[in-house]
Amino acid sequence: MLDSASKGLFHLLALITPFKTLASRYGMRRPSGFARRFIAGESTSEAIEAARAVEARGLLITLDHLGESVDTLARADAATREYFEVMQQVVDSSISRNISLKLTQLGLTVDRATCVDNMRRVLDRAEPAGFFIRIDMEGSAHTEVTLETFETLWNLGYRHMGVVLQAALYRTEQDLERILRLGARVRLVKGAYKEPRTVAHQHKPEIDDAYARLMQILLTRGEFPAIATHDPAMHSLAIDWAAEHGLTPDKFEFQLLYGVRRDLQASLVSRGYHVRVYIPFGREWFPYFMRRLGERPANVASVVTSILDERRNTIWNK
Ligand SMILES: Cc1cc2nc3c(=O)[nH]c(=O)nc-3n(C[C@H](O)[C@H](O)[C@H](O)COP(=O)(O)OP(=O)(O)OC[C@H]3O[C@@H](n4cnc5c(N)ncnc54)[C@H](O)[C@@H]3O)c2cc1C
Repeated sequence: MLDSASKGLFHLLALITPFKTLASRYGMRRPSGFARRFIAGESTSEAIEAARAVEARGLLITLDHLGESVDTLARADAATREYFEVMQQVVDSSISRNISLKLTQLGLTVDRATCVDNMRRVLDRAEPAGFFIRIDMEGSAHTEVTLETFETLWNLGYRHMGVVLQAALYRTEQDLERILRLGARVRLVKGAYKEPRTVAHQHKPEIDDAYARLMQILLTRGEFPAIATHDPAMHSLAIDWAAEHGLTPDKFEFQLLYGVRRDLQASLVSRGYHVRVYIPFGREWFPYFMRRLGERPANVASVVTSILDERRNTIWNK
């Protein structure tokens, strides 16, 4: 119950403008801003610096230039060009070339054909430079059209891309079969969005059961599976399943979010597994940040303390 209720509460909070204004004002302002735990910074150079630090710990990275729900073609075009910029800066740095992005950032809900074109522009620049592009999965209203767009791009011959599937959705087992038939790469997550009970499991035990089942299918038949979770029980299950089925650690990877369970990130690497850290950055960090709070309400206490400290300091320094 709490799982779904907490996601719902944070979804509502994200819509309240004064809360957004307050959080945006204080969240990233100082090096100690509370949002910096989950977000690497607002600029590409800050993200690259964070990526270097992550790679220095023996981990892999994927960079997400945050943005979603773009509502005009001009903004979708701007987001596409921003990705060109990000890729150029990544090429100029020595970090590895892996990007995650959302299709609504490239105009999916404005005009699907333009979104496909924008995605092609990104993929055409990415391929010669050796980038892998992962298409994140958004709320269930976008699941079908995201998968159709992915299939369209796949049928056009793009292979340096993968997609994300959410275990919480009832439909995912069929979607997994659909992507396995293509031979494309899947990142399996539990699902970060507040979804109605008509389309998704609402309670953690059921979501965990679904995740475990789908993960076993993916590990057995998938193309370089990405097991994206911070749940140690799922890590153990994946490791045991892989060992029993002769899947060596170079055939799959774990993925975790920047700022979440660094202890587990380090422990998996020390045991010889590939671990990729998802590094979000950019000015549009608020919705992503709220999803992270919704997953773990205990995070809220540290945010509230941090806002109060900031306000107190601001008042004293006036
Ligand atoms: C690399 C990566 C990419 C992702 N991409 C997508 C995507 O494209 N679409 C999508 O819907 N979702 C995505 N997610 C989010 C995912 O769906 C879950 O919402 C998120 O990972 C939390 O679930 P969990 O699997 O860690 O398990 P849970 O059962 O929720 O958590 C297990 C444990 O992890 C820790 N933990 C989990 N979340 C947090 C947090 N926010 N802060 C602190 N500790 C935490 C806690 O210790 C918790 O007990 C992604 C997750 C990862 C790791």
